Amino acid sequence: MRHFFVPCIALLILFFSAAAVTAALHAPVDIVAPGAELPAEFKIGFFPWPQPGGPGTPIYLTYSYSNLLDGGLGLSNADLRAATEEALGLWASNAPLHFTEIADAGLAPHDPPTPHPGKLPGEADIRIGHHLIDGSGTILAHAWLPFSPLHAIDADIHFDNAETWATAPGGGSFDVLEVMVHELGHSLALDHEPLPPTGNTAIMNPVYSASYSGLGTAFLHPDDIAGIQFMYGSGTGSVSPIPEAASVVIWALLGGLSVVVCRFRRRKQAA
Ligand SMILES: [Zn+2]
Ligand SMILES: [Zn+2]
Repeated sequence: MRHFFVPCIALLILFFSAAAVTAALHAPVDIVAPGAELPAEFKIGFFPWPQPGGPGTPIYLTYSYSNLLDGGLGLSNADLRAATEEALGLWASNAPLHFTEIADAGLAPHDPPTPHPGKLPGEADIRIGHHLIDGSGTILAHAWLPFSPLHAIDADIHFDNAETWATAPGGGSFDVLEVMVHELGHSLALDHEPLPPTGNTAIMNPVYSASYSGLGTAFLHPDDIAGIQFMYGSGTGSVSPIPEAASVVIWALLGGLSVVVCRFRRRKQAA
């Protein structure tokens, strides 16, 4: 019962740190719903997202970039958007999850120490950003499970901005794509899958595994797919980013309007 009141931060930790593995085993993420010990061994969090029509019917979720695109992770916005959209698309290709980007609203990423009423009007279901978590190493990122017992910043994802990030493993960097796929799993209510031999190999294992080799190479393991489909049924969803072209058109129109206004004023002055 004590676990009910523990914040369910999900941790992704370094592969080769025994201390980190120990920390993961004792992390408060282990809030497991009754019946989670299923043959497939995947674990689900406290509450999945509502699905009024039942398994296999569409679920519509919004996402936004809180401060992810402010340069704090040292990656280009194009790469960060591509990694996010690929990660969302991976989950959406295995379950009827429809993700739509909206403009961000809400406080800067932080971890509230006290209960919080939950998402406020205008805030995306999944806000993605970064802040300093624990410095370089150990915890790379964390996500809050949806409908966490504290109704904190449900389903939000925070990257540790003290790490060196890249779009592929290697060179002392961590692959933002793998971490994004993993953390989104938490946002969708998947808990950590124990490492083999206790559990199965999964992106939802609690340790970073450098499994991918760059943008366009992400995949899920059978255990991850079994977990997401156990909660939401099989099917396919979609990812709908805010079209960048539309943004350009809007700005162009606004620019055009300002030119019109300036010309109008000049003519008035001339008159
Ligand atoms: Zn995790
Ligand atoms: Zn955080």
